[in-house]
Amino acid sequence: MKFEIKVTVPEVKIDLKCPKCGHIFQEKIREIKPGRIKTCPHCGVTIEYKGDDLSKVQTELDKLKKIGH
Ligand SMILES: [Zn+2]
Repeated sequence: MKFEIKVTVPEVKIDLKCPKCGHIFQEKIREIKPGRIKTCPHCGVTIEYKGDDLSKVQTELDKLKKIGH
């Protein structure tokens, strides 16, 4: 008898705050890349991800690692 084991890595999401209306929404970390455009689901403003956003993502990932251990 054989077992097939699949490991699914859950999508890591972080909270992002709209710079215009302050609405907080979740975004998948892998979707956050420089130059990528996101539309705020609340006010419709377009947000362009920049290098600064990626460093925030890294900070969030570090926090997750700390919680895990
Ligand atoms: Zn907004």
